[in-house]
Amino acid sequence: MSTRTLNLDDKLYQYLLDASLREHPVLTELRELNRHHPHASMQIAPEQGQFMALLVKLIGARRTLEVGVFTGYSTLATALALPPDGSIVACDISREYTDIGRRYWEKTGVAHKIDLRIAPAIDTLDALIAQGQGGSFDFAFIDADKTAYDAYYERCLTLLRQGGLIVVDNVLWSGAVASEATDADTAALQAFNRKLHADQRIDLAMLPIADGLTLARKH
Ligand code: CA
Repeated sequence: MSTRTLNLDDKLYQYLLDASLREHPVLTELRELNRHHPHASMQIAPEQGQFMALLVKLIGARRTLEVGVFTGYSTLATALALPPDGSIVACDISREYTDIGRRYWEKTGVAHKIDLRIAPAIDTLDALIAQGQGGSFDFAFIDADKTAYDAYYERCLTLLRQGGLIVVDNVLWSGAVASEATDADTAALQAFNRKLHADQRIDLAMLPIADGLTLARKH
Protein backbone atom coordinates (compact mmCIF):
# COMPACT_ATOMS: atom_id res chain seq x y z
CA MET A 1 0.00 0.00 0.00
CA SER A 2 1.16 3.50 -0.71
CA THR A 3 -0.15 6.93 0.18
CA ARG A 4 1.75 8.50 -2.71
CA THR A 5 1.89 7.79 -6.41
CA LEU A 6 3.90 4.70 -7.30
CA ASN A 7 7.01 4.78 -9.40
CA LEU A 8 6.36 2.42 -12.28
CA ASP A 9 9.27 0.17 -13.16
CA ASP A 10 9.22 -1.61 -16.53
CA LYS A 11 7.51 -4.68 -15.12
CA LEU A 12 4.69 -2.78 -13.43
CA TYR A 13 4.22 -0.49 -16.44
CA GLN A 14 3.91 -3.53 -18.69
CA TYR A 15 1.36 -4.96 -16.27
CA LEU A 16 -0.65 -1.71 -16.44
CA LEU A 17 -0.70 -1.95 -20.24
CA ASP A 18 -1.53 -5.67 -20.25
CA ALA A 19 -4.28 -5.20 -17.69
CA SER A 20 -5.99 -2.17 -19.18
CA LEU A 21 -4.98 -1.11 -22.67
CA ARG A 22 -7.77 -1.27 -25.26
CA GLU A 23 -6.18 0.27 -28.28
CA HIS A 24 -7.96 0.50 -31.61
CA PRO A 25 -5.95 -1.59 -34.13
CA VAL A 26 -5.31 1.46 -36.32
CA LEU A 27 -3.95 3.36 -33.31
CA THR A 28 -1.61 0.42 -32.67
CA GLU A 29 -0.53 0.51 -36.30
CA LEU A 30 0.17 4.26 -36.15
CA ARG A 31 2.11 3.88 -32.91
CA GLU A 32 4.23 1.11 -34.41
CA LEU A 33 5.01 3.30 -37.41
CA ASN A 34 5.92 6.23 -35.17
CA ARG A 35 8.32 4.15 -33.10
CA HIS A 36 10.80 4.48 -35.95
CA HIS A 37 10.18 8.19 -36.44
CA PRO A 38 13.09 10.50 -35.50
CA HIS A 39 10.69 12.50 -33.29
CA ALA A 40 9.03 9.40 -31.78
CA SER A 41 9.00 10.97 -28.30
CA MET A 42 6.52 13.58 -29.54
CA GLN A 43 3.77 10.98 -29.61
CA ILE A 44 1.64 10.48 -26.52
CA ALA A 45 1.62 7.20 -24.58
CA PRO A 46 -1.15 4.72 -25.45
CA GLU A 47 -2.61 4.63 -21.91
CA GLN A 48 -2.69 8.43 -22.06
CA GLY A 49 -4.66 8.30 -25.32
CA GLN A 50 -7.12 5.90 -23.73
CA PHE A 51 -7.44 8.16 -20.68
CA MET A 52 -8.05 11.24 -22.82
CA ALA A 53 -10.70 9.36 -24.82
CA LEU A 54 -12.44 8.53 -21.56
CA LEU A 55 -12.33 12.20 -20.52
CA VAL A 56 -13.85 13.24 -23.85
CA LYS A 57 -16.72 10.81 -23.26
CA LEU A 58 -17.11 11.72 -19.57
CA ILE A 59 -17.71 15.38 -20.28
CA GLY A 60 -19.83 14.60 -23.37
CA ALA A 61 -17.51 16.60 -25.60
CA ARG A 62 -18.65 17.40 -29.14
CA ARG A 63 -16.42 20.29 -30.17
CA THR A 64 -12.71 19.99 -29.37
CA LEU A 65 -9.41 21.73 -30.03
CA GLU A 66 -5.99 20.20 -30.46
CA VAL A 67 -2.82 22.29 -30.40
CA GLY A 68 0.02 20.15 -31.78
CA VAL A 69 -0.99 17.19 -33.94
CA PHE A 70 2.37 15.60 -34.90
CA THR A 71 1.40 12.38 -36.72
CA GLY A 72 -2.13 12.39 -35.36
CA TYR A 73 -2.26 9.67 -32.70
CA SER A 74 -3.98 11.86 -30.08
CA THR A 75 -6.19 13.33 -32.79
CA LEU A 76 -7.30 9.84 -33.81
CA ALA A 77 -7.85 8.72 -30.20
CA THR A 78 -10.02 11.81 -29.61
CA ALA A 79 -11.92 11.45 -32.89
CA LEU A 80 -12.78 7.83 -32.07
CA ALA A 81 -14.18 8.96 -28.70
CA LEU A 82 -16.33 11.76 -30.15
CA PRO A 83 -19.96 11.21 -31.19
CA PRO A 84 -20.70 10.98 -34.96
CA ASP A 85 -21.37 14.74 -35.14
CA GLY A 86 -18.29 15.62 -33.05
CA SER A 87 -15.40 17.65 -34.42
CA ILE A 88 -11.80 18.59 -33.75
CA VAL A 89 -10.10 21.79 -34.85
CA ALA A 90 -6.57 20.42 -35.10
CA CYS A 91 -3.69 22.93 -35.23
CA ASP A 92 -0.20 22.17 -36.50
CA ILE A 93 2.44 23.77 -38.70
CA SER A 94 3.73 20.57 -40.33
CA ARG A 95 2.05 19.29 -43.46
CA GLU A 96 4.59 16.48 -43.60
CA TYR A 97 3.75 14.99 -40.18
CA THR A 98 0.02 15.57 -40.31
CA ASP A 99 -0.16 13.91 -43.75
CA ILE A 100 0.88 10.69 -42.01
CA GLY A 101 -1.99 11.11 -39.54
CA ARG A 102 -4.50 11.87 -42.25
CA ARG A 103 -3.97 8.45 -43.85
CA TYR A 104 -4.86 6.76 -40.56
CA TRP A 105 -7.81 9.08 -39.89
CA GLU A 106 -9.20 8.11 -43.29
CA LYS A 107 -8.54 4.43 -42.73
CA THR A 108 -10.53 4.58 -39.47
CA GLY A 109 -13.42 6.51 -41.03
CA VAL A 110 -13.12 9.54 -38.75
CA ALA A 111 -11.34 11.99 -41.08
CA HIS A 112 -14.60 13.96 -41.52
CA LYS A 113 -14.47 14.87 -37.81
CA ILE A 114 -11.02 16.45 -38.11
CA ASP A 115 -10.68 20.04 -39.31
CA LEU A 116 -6.91 20.34 -39.77
CA ARG A 117 -5.52 23.88 -39.86
CA ILE A 118 -1.93 24.16 -41.06
CA ALA A 119 -0.87 27.49 -39.54
CA PRO A 120 0.63 28.78 -36.30
CA ALA A 121 -1.90 27.66 -33.66
CA ILE A 122 -2.04 31.17 -32.17
CA ASP A 123 -3.38 32.46 -35.51
CA THR A 124 -5.97 29.68 -35.76
CA LEU A 125 -7.16 30.15 -32.18
CA ASP A 126 -7.27 33.94 -32.51
CA ALA A 127 -9.33 33.57 -35.70
CA LEU A 128 -11.84 31.35 -33.87
CA ILE A 129 -12.11 33.94 -31.09
CA ALA A 130 -12.54 36.74 -33.65
CA GLN A 131 -15.34 34.72 -35.27
CA GLY A 132 -17.22 34.79 -31.96
CA GLN A 133 -16.59 31.14 -31.09
CA GLY A 134 -15.52 31.90 -27.52
CA GLY A 135 -17.28 29.71 -24.94
CA SER A 136 -18.31 27.12 -27.56
CA PHE A 137 -15.74 24.32 -27.22
CA ASP A 138 -15.88 21.45 -24.74
CA PHE A 139 -12.34 20.12 -24.68
CA ALA A 140 -8.82 21.15 -25.66
CA PHE A 141 -5.54 19.24 -25.78
CA ILE A 142 -2.32 21.28 -25.70
CA ASP A 143 0.84 19.46 -26.79
CA ALA A 144 3.08 21.75 -28.84
CA ASP A 145 6.05 24.13 -28.37
CA LYS A 146 6.46 24.59 -24.63
CA THR A 147 7.42 28.27 -24.65
CA ALA A 148 4.01 29.10 -26.12
CA TYR A 149 1.96 26.96 -23.70
CA ASP A 150 0.71 29.99 -21.79
CA ALA A 151 -0.47 31.68 -24.99
CA TYR A 152 -2.27 28.50 -26.11
CA TYR A 153 -3.79 28.01 -22.67
CA GLU A 154 -5.24 31.54 -22.50
CA ARG A 155 -6.82 31.20 -25.92
CA CYS A 156 -8.19 27.72 -25.24
CA LEU A 157 -9.66 28.97 -21.95
CA THR A 158 -11.47 31.73 -23.84
CA LEU A 159 -12.77 29.23 -26.42
CA LEU A 160 -13.99 26.71 -23.83
CA ARG A 161 -17.49 26.67 -22.36
CA GLN A 162 -18.03 26.70 -18.61
CA GLY A 163 -17.15 23.20 -17.35
CA GLY A 164 -14.97 22.56 -20.40
CA LEU A 165 -11.66 20.77 -19.95
CA ILE A 166 -8.12 21.65 -21.04
CA VAL A 167 -5.58 18.81 -21.01
CA VAL A 168 -1.90 19.81 -21.16
CA ASP A 169 0.89 17.38 -22.01
CA ASN A 170 4.52 17.14 -20.81
CA VAL A 171 4.04 19.17 -17.65
CA LEU A 172 6.62 17.06 -15.75
CA TRP A 173 9.10 17.21 -18.68
CA SER A 174 10.99 13.99 -17.88
CA GLY A 175 11.41 15.30 -14.33
CA ALA A 176 13.41 18.38 -15.34
CA VAL A 177 10.81 20.78 -13.89
CA ALA A 178 11.84 19.74 -10.36
CA SER A 179 15.36 21.16 -10.81
CA GLU A 180 16.62 24.62 -11.66
CA ALA A 181 15.89 25.29 -15.33
CA THR A 182 18.85 25.44 -17.71
CA ASP A 183 16.82 25.83 -20.91
CA ALA A 184 13.87 27.86 -22.15
CA ASP A 185 11.43 24.92 -22.41
CA THR A 186 11.93 23.83 -18.80
CA ALA A 187 11.68 27.42 -17.55
CA ALA A 188 8.47 27.93 -19.55
CA LEU A 189 6.91 24.77 -18.16
CA GLN A 190 7.85 25.74 -14.60
CA ALA A 191 6.28 29.17 -15.02
CA PHE A 192 3.21 27.63 -16.66
CA ASN A 193 2.76 25.09 -13.85
CA ARG A 194 3.15 27.84 -11.22
CA LYS A 195 0.58 29.99 -12.97
CA LEU A 196 -2.02 27.22 -13.16
CA HIS A 197 -1.49 26.31 -9.52
CA ALA A 198 -2.66 29.82 -8.59
CA ASP A 199 -5.24 30.24 -11.37
CA GLN A 200 -8.65 30.68 -9.74
CA ARG A 201 -10.47 30.40 -13.09
CA ILE A 202 -10.01 26.62 -13.15
CA ASP A 203 -10.19 23.39 -11.16
CA LEU A 204 -6.80 21.71 -11.35
CA ALA A 205 -5.21 18.27 -11.26
CA MET A 206 -1.67 17.33 -12.29
CA LEU A 207 -1.25 13.63 -13.04
CA PRO A 208 1.99 11.65 -13.32
CA ILE A 209 0.69 9.75 -16.34
CA ALA A 210 3.20 9.51 -19.21
CA ASP A 211 5.32 12.74 -19.16
CA GLY A 212 2.92 14.51 -16.80
CA LEU A 213 -0.60 15.61 -17.69
CA THR A 214 -2.45 18.61 -16.31
CA LEU A 215 -6.23 18.77 -16.29
CA ALA A 216 -7.79 22.23 -16.02
CA ARG A 217 -11.58 22.54 -15.83
CA LYS A 218 -12.95 25.97 -16.60
CA HIS A 219 -15.21 27.43 -13.90
CA1 CA B 1 3.82 15.64 -25.88
